Amino acid sequence: MENKHEIYLDNAATTRTHPDVVSAMLPYFSLHFGNPSSLYSIARSSRTAIEEARRKVAAALGADEREIFFTSGGTESDNWAIRGIASAHGKKGRHIITTAIEHHAVLHTVEALEKEGFEITYLPVDEYGMVSPESVEEAIRPDTILISVMLANNEIGTIQPVQKIGEIARSHKIIFHSDAVQAIGQIPVDVRTMNVDLLSISAHKFGGPKGVGALFIRRGLRIDPLLYGGAQEQRRRAGTENVPGIVGLGAAIERAAAMMSEKAERMKKLRKRLIDGLLTIPKSRLNGHPTERLPNNVNIIFDYIEGESILLLLDANGIAASTGSACTSASLDPSHVLLACGLPHEQAHGSLRLTLGEETTEADIDYVLGVVPTVVQRLRDMSPLTPKELRTR
Ligand SMILES: *Cc1c(COP(=O)(O)O)cnc(C)c1O
Repeated sequence: MENKHEIYLDNAATTRTHPDVVSAMLPYFSLHFGNPSSLYSIARSSRTAIEEARRKVAAALGADEREIFFTSGGTESDNWAIRGIASAHGKKGRHIITTAIEHHAVLHTVEALEKEGFEITYLPVDEYGMVSPESVEEAIRPDTILISVMLANNEIGTIQPVQKIGEIARSHKIIFHSDAVQAIGQIPVDVRTMNVDLLSISAHKFGGPKGVGALFIRRGLRIDPLLYGGAQEQRRRAGTENVPGIVGLGAAIERAAAMMSEKAERMKKLRKRLIDGLLTIPKSRLNGHPTERLPNNVNIIFDYIEGESILLLLDANGIAASTGSACTSASLDPSHVLLACGLPHEQAHGSLRLTLGEETTEADIDYVLGVVPTVVQRLRDMSPLTPKELRTR
């Protein structure tokens, strides 16, 4: 880091697997390699390790161990929650309520169900990306079987009033799912106070490995499997368990929970320094909620330039950032989240998302604050849309 800067500010896309987590995982590749379903003693350590990880995940979420089901990540957890409920409760009703700003793992799943005859209500959000609990209540119909509202948004970091929405769902006896993938390790997550029936998490968003996650399923809830083929996970999720991944998930969530409050305080200080610095650039605005937002999320619009072009110049300066979600940044589509917040099409292309991590330092922030204004000015000087008063040449 002496002269060649390498600053990673895309922790909402993925995080570095922490070395301690890697160490915890390593014995489960070649040493304790047994199939957890096998009956001989070599398999016992795999089985024990899975149950140990399940205890850690349950403890972090305020859940019972029997309510934690391991999956291949956030995408599978979201797909399973929604499809599993649609399949098990579709006879009772075929209406699902969600929001316009969900992750595509939720949105594309309900879109697929729409083709199969389900009706979907996409709740709007305000300019800060906030869903109102009243709008949830108004959308409920006699045939509503599921409400799915994310806890925290991956692009703009807005934290939803999930506890209130959960109370509403409960009072109407409707099943409530929340995608909490971005929230773990950043804000407290407790399945009981949130009043959720289903909750998705993913290890690689909080210092764990990619390709492993979990779905919390409240005891007694009827849900069909997504994957069939074996008796694993209480017969609800077939497939030989990803033992090293599950061990990594357990180690990462225990670590994330232990350091959360100290880390959040540090992130908020760095976030403020970064936001205050970036907003000194003329014609720039913060996307998302000013206070109800993830401690590590910064999302800024600079008028007259495109997010993608900023990214290339930041990369040339050793800064890894994003325009929105990892999935949309590869395409050139405008962000559905920013569009839902009411931004016009041109601006929904133009945002810069910087998401801090536990390794981010004050020096990193100051370096970024040195680079971004120069990059923005250079692009504005090149853009035909830039008004004269913002040009340097
Ligand atoms: C990353 C993410 C997902 C997908 O999780 P994967 O483990 O990458 O499949 C789902 N929802 C949100 C909010 C996310 O940020």
